[in-house]
Amino acid sequence: MAIKRVYLDNGATTPVNAEVVKEMQPYFSGVFGNASSFHSFGRESKTALDKARAKTARLLNAEPDEIIFTGCGTESDNIAIFGILNAYGKKGHIITTQIEHHAVLYSCRRLQKNGYDVTFLQVDKNGLISADDFKKAVKDDTLLVSIMHANNEVGAIQPVKEIAEILKEINKNRKDRIYFHTDAVQTAGKIPVDVKDLGVDLLSLSAHKFYGPKGVGALYVKKGVNIAPVMYGGHHENGLRPGTENIAYITGLAKALEISCADLKANDEKILSLREKLKKGILEKIPEVTVNSSGENAVSGILNVSFKYIEGESLLLKLDMKGIAVSTGSACASGSSEPSHVLSAMCVDPVAAQGTVRFSFGCQNTVEETDYVLEVLPGIVEDLRRMSPVWNKRQTEE
Ligand SMILES: *Cc1c(COP(=O)(O)O)cnc(C)c1O
Repeated sequence: MAIKRVYLDNGATTPVNAEVVKEMQPYFSGVFGNASSFHSFGRESKTALDKARAKTARLLNAEPDEIIFTGCGTESDNIAIFGILNAYGKKGHIITTQIEHHAVLYSCRRLQKNGYDVTFLQVDKNGLISADDFKKAVKDDTLLVSIMHANNEVGAIQPVKEIAEILKEINKNRKDRIYFHTDAVQTAGKIPVDVKDLGVDLLSLSAHKFYGPKGVGALYVKKGVNIAPVMYGGHHENGLRPGTENIAYITGLAKALEISCADLKANDEKILSLREKLKKGILEKIPEVTVNSSGENAVSGILNVSFKYIEGESLLLKLDMKGIAVSTGSACASGSSEPSHVLSAMCVDPVAAQGTVRFSFGCQNTVEETDYVLEVLPGIVEDLRRMSPVWNKRQTEE
């Protein structure tokens, strides 16, 4: 087979769609004005900015003035969390989960150090929180809830809508509203993300996870939500994200979201069939593996598999030598030998967790690529296991 490189790390980032590149092109040196300038150069950029905002808002079922553009998903998460707490101006209680992306998890740990009371909700073996646990966690001084829409390591989709409904009831009898933020970086452009249907107050997304450029994100802030800046400067983006807007990237984000949403269902079906094919093949060909999440309540693109008796890092390197790109846990955690906080929270056996890799699919992936992985993967796992004393001991005992 002639396949040389197979990219199965779309959870970390995706290639920019060619149409998106084309859409961005005019805004580097042709239309380059500062969108805040009053001359024609500025007005041209402002028009493009307004268009991108209107498009992004429409695709999320929001109003244009409820969308602010940011530097990335991490920045959206930080502006949401610290912005809400800054506006409250007093300490209180925060509810989040044990399996958030580090952008939320580490923000909440910092807040805990700063004197906030933080509840990190537990998850079940599928990576899901329970609405009951959530209800019990709410306190008199709860100010903010931040629960991710889908997890980046295992794909689990949290019951965001249900949580929002519970909060709506609770908020009826309170003076201080509890605000609800969700990190939708793994779902925007992949499954329907409708802010009104979800019932959230704040929602983060990032262009590079749905075939847009890296370094640009968006934050939905529902009208009436009391949020204060975390950075100070100009009046850009309602004062929440000061700094001259990157019109090329913002235009790219809107275009990428438009393309992804137009083909949402077809892409999802295609990706799901590739994942199921790989999952089935792995379970058939390789003994002693467990699939972490990927059922009903999970996004289609992520297949997280634990191969017992080997190291995920070694498997990643061996696959890379065959041109196949995967990740261990999340891209942000790789390089550290700490077990994944997500798998630990899901109570995955720590020994199995060591041998975990994430295959994450994108709409550019093909059946041939999946076949190629299934052709080389069993041999690599077998070779690595042959070097494992624990595995060999088991083999001789049997
Ligand atoms: C990738 C990712 C982020 C961070 O987005 P960046 O644009 O890379 O900062 C945040 N949350 C989740 C769930 C992600 O997958």
